[in-house]
Formats: sequence, structure tokens, C-alpha cells
Amino acid sequence: MRLFDTMSREVKDLQSSDGKTFRFYCCGPTVYGPAHIGNFRTFVLQDVFRRTLELSGMPTYHVRNLTDVDDKTIRDAEAAGKTLKEFTDFWRDRFHDDCNQLNNLEPHLEPSAVEHIPHQIAMIEELMEKGHAYRSDDGSVYYKVSSFEGYGRLSRLDQRELRAGASGAVSDDEYEKDSVSDFALWKSRREDDGENYWSSPWGEGRPGWHLECSAMCREYLGDSFDLHSGGVDLVFPHHENEIAQSEACSGHSMADHWFHLTHLLVDGGKMSKSAGNFYTLTQLVEAGFSPAELRYVLISAHYRQPLNFVAKDKDGKESFPALAGAGQALQKIAKFAHVLKQQGKVDTPVGFDALKDVTDLGSFAAAFDGLLDDLNTPDALGQVFSAMKGIKPDELSEVEARREFMGLSVIMGALGLKLPVVEEKVKAEVPAGIAEMAQARWQAKQDKDWGEADRLRDELADAGWEIKDTKEGYELCPKN
Ligand code: AMP
Ligand code: ZN
Repeated sequence: MRLFDTMSREVKDLQSSDGKTFRFYCCGPTVYGPAHIGNFRTFVLQDVFRRTLELSGMPTYHVRNLTDVDDKTIRDAEAAGKTLKEFTDFWRDRFHDDCNQLNNLEPHLEPSAVEHIPHQIAMIEELMEKGHAYRSDDGSVYYKVSSFEGYGRLSRLDQRELRAGASGAVSDDEYEKDSVSDFALWKSRREDDGENYWSSPWGEGRPGWHLECSAMCREYLGDSFDLHSGGVDLVFPHHENEIAQSEACSGHSMADHWFHLTHLLVDGGKMSKSAGNFYTLTQLVEAGFSPAELRYVLISAHYRQPLNFVAKDKDGKESFPALAGAGQALQKIAKFAHVLKQQGKVDTPVGFDALKDVTDLGSFAAAFDGLLDDLNTPDALGQVFSAMKGIKPDELSEVEARREFMGLSVIMGALGLKLPVVEEKVKAEVPAGIAEMAQARWQAKQDKDWGEADRLRDELADAGWEIKDTKEGYELCPKN
């Protein structure tokens, strides 16, 4: 598989460094409220990435953390009068529920930041020993950005921009540090932190956000691993700071590949709570759409292109046209898959793991190639519809139909799209007397005995049956 790498600015082949398993880390959600559909653009595409790798024959090891201690979680837990754990557990469970509904595979490991504070403290001690960190008078500890030569390599921002924003948190400005570009590794305890503080060699306080990911990456993936991912807003300062911390400790390159996902916009603008254009999965389900329809919309654009989610029409009414379109597209694919399945006499459900054994994707091979080439999800969807156009299911043998069905299933498995259930029209059992009457009416029509034909039609109607003339003859339907 090939994928764009933010560090080298090139589309590069992906390889697992141990030759066995592709080991990667995704920055997880900050659990202080419901994740919005923008967050899910990132999490869903990371899931498609993992599914594609696995279906291409590369096992993965996927670590995604929970940010359950930071400025926002502490601020909002305090405001809600809850302990940090009660508060973040609630939003963690809600996040898991949304992920399940959207059909995301669970990460292999989901470490919690608050459970790794000793690891973070150990890392700060190492950074201090190596001359990359210093303690300020108030007991906070800062990373000395000027001590790390490679700072800015990932984001390629110029020195002025770097100086302006390395800390990435406005509240850092209130702490005492040597240079504005230095960022906090440890934040000393403050009154409004409530009971949310921990002991450290520098006094009571709590870790900085950037450090949490560095410590958890190191613990579970080692000093170097295959890929690190997050939304594009994390390139700077979060990932730049992670690199500075991790590489200053280990002396090794942190990740071979950096995978960043472009943001979802709403009605052309940045999605934010304050702008009131903040959508959650629950809201869209309440508006009558399915999680699969949202997933379809989220993967309908390439991950390096912004995706504009149109919510309101020109009169300001919420109409979500893309979700309605996604529903129709999914129905079309589902009906096609259903016919192939019947024709191929596939009678057992095919789970994700079984799809890993499929080697011949038939007409759907080009769709999978699209995914292998820089995770081109819109191309893969386009290829699915082209392949469907080229297949005449009723002309296929059982073996051919089964092959096409499995090929289509692999693409749906890679995209993580669960198809809606196709409702089959159940043919009503026609009682013998009714069938005879219908046959007699048809004969009367052939004999041009219109009076008799009408009489039999009325008699059938009285018995609860409607007769419809078709090109081939006639059809009997029970009247509702
Ligand atoms: P957070 O919960 O804010 O830590 O964010 C979780 C993930 O969602 C991170 O990888 C962010 O970069 C990503 N993210 C935040 N906003 C958006 C957006 N509008 N579109 C896509 N990804 C986003
Ligand atoms: Zn992170």
C-alpha cells in the first residue's frame, strides 16, 4: 500500500519494520463531550486505512489513546461537579458506542493518559537529565525547544510561526517559562484543578497533553514504530512536540510515516461548538439517517481534500442532501450484492476475517487498487459502480456470481460499509381456485370476451385479489 507521508511530503510505500505486523498509533479523542462528525472523519478514515492494510495481507497493531486528563477534561469535570474519572468514563463510553455504530474496528489497545502518569514522569526525568527540560519557579516543567535541533521538521513552519505557537495551549502563557516557544511537560497544581493533581519530583501538578502521547507510544510501540496519525490540526504543535520529546529521549526517529487527515467542514466553515454547526452521530440518527449513511459520506472524499458537509439548504433548513444520496447509493449496492449472493448460492455470512482469504476480487479488483493507492476512497466507490454496470448477474454462472459477490464484499469490508438489508418481496401463495379464475379471465381476454373478463376481474376483487396485466401476461396480488 502507498500513502502520503507528511514528513517527506511524498506518497511512500508502507512497510512494517519488523516484517510481520504494521504497528501504528492514532491520537485518540479528548473525552470531555460527544465526538463530532469531523472527529469521525478522522477516526473512520483511519479505520478504512487499517482494514485495507489487513485485507491486503498485512496484519496490524493499532494503538489509540484516550486523552482523559488535560485542561478541557479537568475544566469541564469541575464545572459538572464530577470526579475526572466519572466524567471521562461517561464520554469514553459514548465514544465507544458511536464507534460501534459507525462500524469502526476496536483498536488493539486503548491506553488511558491518566493511567500512565508514572510513565510520563519518568520521561520528564529523562528529558531533564539530557538537558532538554527545565523546572520553573512555580513547579512546572518545560521543554526547551531550542535544545532540539530537528524542531519544526514535520510542520515546516518558519521560526516566527514556531515561536508563536509551540505550547499549543493558551493557558501555558500564564506559567513561567524561558521562551514563548517552550511548552509544558508538567503543569503545576492550581486552585481550579480541584482534586485533579498528582505528585511528582517537581511538586504537585499534572502532565502536559503532548507528553501523554509520547509516553504511551514509547510504552506500547517502542522508540520507533511504523506510522503515527491524527487530524491535520495535530501536525503543529502536537506532533511536532511529540517528536521533540520522543526523539530527544531515544535518539531514534519516532515514526517512519506520518498520516494526517484533512478536516471536515460544515456548510463551508470550520465546525465548532461556538458557531453552532456542530453535528454528532446521535443528532443525525435522530434526523432519520443511519450510521452507515454517515460513514458513506465521510469516505466519499479523499482524505487529503477538505470535505464540506452540507447541512442546511439556502433557506437555512437542515436537509443533509449528501446523507440522502448516500442512502440511495447504499440501497443500490445492497440490492446488487443481494442478487449476486443468491445467484452464487452464498448461504453463510462472510465476516471481516474470512475476507482476508479472498484472493480473486473479479471485477472489483480495480476498486481495491484505488484504496492501495493513497487510500483513494472516492475512486474505490466510483470503481464499485463502474464494476456493477459491467456485470449482468443473471448471465453469470454460480461460480462467477460467487466470485463477484466475494470481490464486492472485500471492498465493502475495506470501506467498513454495512449494507442495508434488502427486503425481498414475498410472493403470496395463490389459492388454486383464484389461480383458475385468473387463468379463465386471461383466456376470456384472449377470446375477446370482454364481458366475461370484467366479470371475473370483479369476482377476483371481491375475493381480495387484484389482477394486473403485464407484458408477459398477468400478475396476481393480494389487495391490502
Ligand atoms: P480531539 O478529540 O479534539 O482530540 O480530536 C480527535 C481527532 O479528531 C484528532 O485526530 C483531531 O485532529 C481530529 N479532528 C478534530 N476536528 C476535526 C475535523 N473538523 N475534521 C476532521 N478531523 C478532526
Ligand atoms: Zn497525540
